[in-house]
Amino acid sequence: MATDYYSVLGVGRDASQDQIKKAFRRLARELHPDVNPDPKTQERFKEINAAYEVLSDPQKKQVYDLGGDPLSQAGGAGGAGGFGAGFGNFSDIMDAFFGTASQRGPRSRTRRGQDAMIRLDIELNEAAFGTTKDIQVDTAVVCTTCSGEGAAPGTSAQTCDMCRGRGEVSQVTRSFLGQVMTSRPCPQCQGFGTVVPTPCPECAGDGRVRSRRTLTVKIPAGVDNGTRIQLAGEGEVGPGGGPAGDLYVEIHELAHPVFQRRGDDLHCTVTIPMTAAALGTKCPLETLDGVEEIDVRPGTQSGQSIPLHGRGVTHLRGNGRGDLIVHVEVQTPSKLEPEQEELLRRLAKLRGEERPQGQFQPGQQGLFSRLKDAFNGR
Ligand SMILES: [Zn+2]
Ligand SMILES: [Zn+2]
Repeated sequence: MATDYYSVLGVGRDASQDQIKKAFRRLARELHPDVNPDPKTQERFKEINAAYEVLSDPQKKQVYDLGGDPLSQAGGAGGAGGFGAGFGNFSDIMDAFFGTASQRGPRSRTRRGQDAMIRLDIELNEAAFGTTKDIQVDTAVVCTTCSGEGAAPGTSAQTCDMCRGRGEVSQVTRSFLGQVMTSRPCPQCQGFGTVVPTPCPECAGDGRVRSRRTLTVKIPAGVDNGTRIQLAGEGEVGPGGGPAGDLYVEIHELAHPVFQRRGDDLHCTVTIPMTAAALGTKCPLETLDGVEEIDVRPGTQSGQSIPLHGRGVTHLRGNGRGDLIVHVEVQTPSKLEPEQEELLRRLAKLRGEERPQGQFQPGQQGLFSRLKDAFNGR
């Protein structure tokens, strides 16, 4: 009967002790006779115990890895399967059910509360420079009537008489293992070790109530869509008035009518007349910092961009700011007065452009990047 102990536990031959222990615990919980009395399952339970007995013991594991069966050498004290010596890992079975030994004893009524999240809409300039916001939050807070104890005023929690405050009850049962002492959480106090005879009427014994309050949140400069600001201890208070979780404020930046943000840079498009593009001009532009003149050089082409350094969004980490990139779009007049048309014709003649040959540009970069911009949702 050459059992493959590794496949019994469902682990690889190179599994660590930790993986072996985890696999065993998982199976032990599933297949324990108390949980699943079916004879076939009990057979499986014996198998995983045997496998664990061998694989968790470095010496036996070595014997087994070299092709021997350490359990048959151990002598049949317990009969079939060599499970007789199996009490060695009994504490591991108990651990699988009740957690590690350090967690024994009554469990605390107070537990840490959950984290909470709230979404906050902000404007681009608030993201760029930072701001302070008042937000309404709705979370569980400590019940003031019972101070989180859960007991009605004038009463208090009392030691559970079933487990005498231990939080667990023990039972001696006879099973195929012999006499076994099992412990389980006390059914009367659910393992707390105390009972609350008269629960607090305000919170029904939970030790916390829901409440709405206003918090002032400092939003640092440079936050972006999805940035989360953590406010420690401002989340939900836990059961029994336990310490509060954290509150996360998730930033949602509202779209700006003119500027589009990419990272910490801002982009916008200005349209200038054909004549101004040819002759050059100064053009006022309302930036986040106020009105600034942008310098359009003579001979500016459609699609060219003019960077305004340091006029973008403040970097969240580190110093400085992103840039504001002004994309220029040259507008061709679509309606011409007779006099204007005359002038343009004269200009075209002077420049020898009356019958120009269309010319392919190498790479067509300009058109392509503008198409890309259009797809990016300008
Ligand atoms: Zn209360
Ligand atoms: Zn109890």
